[in-house]
Amino acid sequence: MSADQTAKPPYRRVLLKLSGEGLMGDKDFGLDVAVVERIAGEIRAVHEQGVEICLVIGGGNIFRGVSEAARSIERTTADYMGMLATVMNALAVQSILEKNGVPTRVLSAIPMSTVCEPYVRRRAIRHMEKGRLVIFTAGTGNPFFTTDTAAALRAVEMGCDVLLKGTQVDGVYSADPKKVKDAERYDELSFQDVLSRDLRVMDASAIALARDNGLPILVFSLRQEGAFAEVVAGGGKYTKIS
Ligand code: UDP
Repeated sequence: MSADQTAKPPYRRVLLKLSGEGLMGDKDFGLDVAVVERIAGEIRAVHEQGVEICLVIGGGNIFRGVSEAARSIERTTADYMGMLATVMNALAVQSILEKNGVPTRVLSAIPMSTVCEPYVRRRAIRHMEKGRLVIFTAGTGNPFFTTDTAAALRAVEMGCDVLLKGTQVDGVYSADPKKVKDAERYDELSFQDVLSRDLRVMDASAIALARDNGLPILVFSLRQEGAFAEVVAGGGKYTKIS
């Protein structure tokens, strides 16, 4: 399915969730600048069509509160470290987006006023109305959460039409398709399906928040070039959770 990309996109405001892993390319750690440049170019193309875009970026490419490396660190401290990792990614993506001509503001759930703006809901909305892309960073600002939950929360707060989750594969599968050869791929799922079948696409708190607020989630592959624009235009390959 390929939508006419010259037509007006069906979405007015979208939240794109990028995992830290998605910025890593084929590296084992950190950022692959070439990958970030490509994603930034795709985001710019969609932004130029007048779609309001906000981003939530993970931190798993740098640090995860539940990782092996965090084992001897107290959980809440490790989670704060994970949230700080997301700030590094946000600053990198902001820099590359602005180099590509997309005015971008980073808003942090943990105030750090010399680095970026604190998260203020009305200010974030204003930025988007003025044509700026907004990156929400430091997750929800609370330990024991993930950036997926932060993405669902911010998407609901911003009144986004949809949450787009860019992953390493082209949708939701019954098992990890990289490990299980005959894993089943789904075109559509209900929130309840995801929860009851324990499909590990996003954590349960993110799914429950989206369900309770009627926020559809589209899961697509960020590795697939041009997929973001296609999905925003109403085409492409994705799993819809609604
Ligand atoms: N984190 C947190 N609260 C949040 C968001 C993130 O404590 O609201 C921490 C948590 O330790 C998590 C890490 O930040 O492991 C990085 O986020 P995440 O694992 O969601 O990143 P991703 O998998 O998307 O790269």
